[in-house]
Amino acid sequence: MSALKKIKKKLKKNVDQIAAISALVGGAGFVHYIIPTTFPHLYYTVTDPFITTATEQRIEEQFGIDYEGDSTEEKQKVLEEHLQEIYKTNPALLSHCGKIVLHSETVTNSSFVKPFLSFVGLTRPWGTTELIHSGLSIVAHELAHLVHHNAPKKFDDELDLIFGGLYGKGVKKVENEYRWEDGSWGPRNGFVEPYGATKASENVATYVAAAYNPYFWKNERLQQSDKYLKTLSLLEKYGFITLKQFEEIRVKIENKK
Ligand SMILES: [Zn+2]
Repeated sequence: MSALKKIKKKLKKNVDQIAAISALVGGAGFVHYIIPTTFPHLYYTVTDPFITTATEQRIEEQFGIDYEGDSTEEKQKVLEEHLQEIYKTNPALLSHCGKIVLHSETVTNSSFVKPFLSFVGLTRPWGTTELIHSGLSIVAHELAHLVHHNAPKKFDDELDLIFGGLYGKGVKKVENEYRWEDGSWGPRNGFVEPYGATKASENVATYVAAAYNPYFWKNERLQQSDKYLKTLSLLEKYGFITLKQFEEIRVKIENKK
C-alpha cells in the first residue's frame, strides 16, 4: 500500500468523526441542507488532490467543471456520459455550472451524515451542483436550476403569466415524495409532476428533466392543457431547451390529437 493510499484509508475511517464534529459545530441554527455538506466538503477537499482519475480529468477539461467527491471511476464515467449527452443536446445547460460534487458512498453511508442527506441532488446559486445519484434526469434537473438562477426576471414574469397562483395547491408530501392530493402521480394541469407544482423553480427543473425523457411526452394527459406547449416554448426562448428538443416534443404531444 502506497503512502497516499494509507492516507486515503485513514481519512475514510475518520469520516464519521468528521461528520460528528460537523453535526456538533454546525448543527443548531443551520438550515438542514447546510449540515450534510460542510464536513464532507472538507473531507473531499483534503482527499481530492490524492485521487485524480483520468475520468475526473476529462470532466474538468472537457466541461470546465471542477469535480469533487466519489473517487470510483465507474461512477464518474456514468456522470461523464450524462454530461456528454447534455452537452450534445444543449451546451447552454452547462454554462453556469462551475463544480459538481458527487457524494461518495463513504459519506452517504456514514451514520452521522446519512440522516441529513435527504436529497438526490441540490444546487447552490453560486454554481455548485451536489448529487447523491447521477441519473441523467437528475443532472439535467439540477443544471436547470443554475440556468434559472441566472435567467432574467422577464423569464419569471412570463412563467407567472402561465402558472401564477397555482403553486403549492393540490399537492401533498407522502414520506419523501410529492403526490397530487388524490395520491396519484404524473402530469396534470400543465405541471410535469406534483413536485413541479410546489414552486416555480421546481416547475422549470422538472420540465427540463422531462425533456431528457422521450417517453414522458407520449402521455395523453399532456393534451388536456395548453400550458405544456406554452411552457416548452418559453423554456426554448430562454435557452433551457433547444428548438430541436421543442420541436421533437411538440410533434409527440400534437400527434396524439
Ligand atoms: Zn429541484
